[in-house]
Amino acid sequence: MTLVVYNALSRQKEPFVPREPGRIFMYVCGPTVYDHAHIGHAKMYVSMDVIVRHLRHSGYALRYVQNITDVGHLLDSGEDRILKGARRERVEPMEVVERYMRSYLDDMDALHNTRPDIMPRASGHVPEQIAAVQQLLAQGNAYEVNGSVYFDVSSHADYGKLSGRRVAELEEGARVAARDDKRRPEDFALWKRAEPEHIMRWPSPWGEGFPGWHIECSAMAMKYLGQSFDIHGGGIDNIFPHNECEMAQSEALTGCTYANYWLLAGSLTVDGVKMSKSLGNSITIKDALRRHAAEVLRFFVLSGHYSNPIDVSEMALGAAQRGWERLMVPVRTVRQRLQQAGLAPEDGLDFGGVLDEARAAFRAAMDDDFNAPAALAALFELTRQTNAMLAAGPQPGRTTLAAIDALYTELGGGVLGVIPDSAAADGDAGREAGLVQLLIEMRMQARARKDFAASDNIRDSLRTLGIVLEDGKDGTTWKAGQPPAEEA
Ligand code: ZN
Repeated sequence: MTLVVYNALSRQKEPFVPREPGRIFMYVCGPTVYDHAHIGHAKMYVSMDVIVRHLRHSGYALRYVQNITDVGHLLDSGEDRILKGARRERVEPMEVVERYMRSYLDDMDALHNTRPDIMPRASGHVPEQIAAVQQLLAQGNAYEVNGSVYFDVSSHADYGKLSGRRVAELEEGARVAARDDKRRPEDFALWKRAEPEHIMRWPSPWGEGFPGWHIECSAMAMKYLGQSFDIHGGGIDNIFPHNECEMAQSEALTGCTYANYWLLAGSLTVDGVKMSKSLGNSITIKDALRRHAAEVLRFFVLSGHYSNPIDVSEMALGAAQRGWERLMVPVRTVRQRLQQAGLAPEDGLDFGGVLDEARAAFRAAMDDDFNAPAALAALFELTRQTNAMLAAGPQPGRTTLAAIDALYTELGGGVLGVIPDSAAADGDAGREAGLVQLLIEMRMQARARKDFAASDNIRDSLRTLGIVLEDGKDGTTWKAGQPPAEEA
C-alpha cells in the first residue's frame, strides 16, 4: 500500500516519496505568541499532529520542526503583534513571548499533540536571516530602501506558483501602505528599519531593524531540515502571502525545490463565521478544554478531512461528544473485563479476522491523504462488531479482550489520539463531560415520561455544583462555572 497525499503545490493527489528512504523532514509554521491560542490553532495543529503520528506509525523516522514566531509578524496597522501584547500587558516583549509560548505548549500538551523535535524561535535566528537577506541582495532578488530590504517579486518567475495568484492580480488588489518605500505593492519586506519607538531591534548591515515574518520560516526550516525537505505543513489561511513569499525567497536562494509536499489544513469557523476577536466569537483552547475532553475535541477535528474547513458550534461539539462516547463503549467494557479476576485466558473465539480487517481499513484510510474520518469509520465498524460479539456470547477470554484493547490503543490512541491509554487515564474533564451528558439524558427521559420533579431535581442539583444547563432548539447544552455562593 502506498501513501498518497494531496499536494497543495501541484493541486493534486500524488504518491508520497520521501527525499531519503525511510526518513521524513517536516516543517510546520508555528504560532505567533502574543495571546492565548484559540480553537482555530487546535484544528490546525491536531491535523498536523495526526499526520506526524501516522507517518511515524508507518515506520518512518520523522524530524518535526515547528517555529515560534516572536518577532516580525505585523498587524495590518504595521504594529508588531508581540509589541501589541507587551503594551496590553505592560511587560517586556520577551515576557509576552515566554508567557504565551508556555501557554501554547500547555494547550498543545493538553490536546495530546506530539511535541515537535525542534521549536526554533525567530529572535534566536536573526544572524541566519540577515545572511539570507544579504545573499538575496547580492543575487539581485532584493533591494534596499532607507534601511529596509524588500524582495523583488519580478525577479522570481515562480512567484505565485503555490497560491495560484498572479502578480498582475496582486497589483490591482494590493493595499498600498503609505509608510512603505517599496517599489511595487506586491514586493514584501525581508528586513524592516526600526523606528525610534520600536523596542525589538537588531544591528544589521542596513542599520538597526528587525526581520520580516516570511524570512524566519525560510531560515529556520532550511537550517534544521536542509535546503530541500519533504513536507511543509500549516494552515490554508497562510498560503498567501506567508507561504508564497517563504517559498519564493527560499527557492531564489537555493535554486532548488523548497518543500516537495505542501499539506495545508482547512480553516475553522464558529457558527458559520470566521473567528475573530472583533466579532467576540473567539474561543480559546483553554475554554474549550474546560468543557470537553481533549479526546472529544480531537474527535471533532478528525471528523472532517484535514484539508477541509470545519465549523464549530455547540451542536457539532455535542455530536462529537456523543460519537466519541459511542466509540468508547466497547473500549471501556473490554478494559473493565480485563480487570476482572477469574477471567478465562482462552475462549476459542475467532475474532482475529475482524481485527485484521479493522487494521487494514484504518491503514488504507490514513494512507489515502490522512483520511481521518474514514479511519474513524473503520474504528466504528470495529465497535459495532465488538459490541455484537459481547452481546451475543460466548464471552471472550483474556487473549481476545487484550487483542481488542491493544488495537484500539494502537490506532485510536497512538495514531489518532482519541482513545486514552486506559480507562483510568480518561481524565477528569472527560469523566465530568461524560457524567454531565449522562445526567442530561436522564433528565430528557424524565421529561419524556412527564416526571418534572425528577427533571428539575437534576437541573437544580447540577446548578449547585456550578453546572448550568441551557435548553435550546438543538437540545440541551451545559456550562461549567463556579458553584453559586451559599444563600444565608
Ligand atoms: Zn511560516
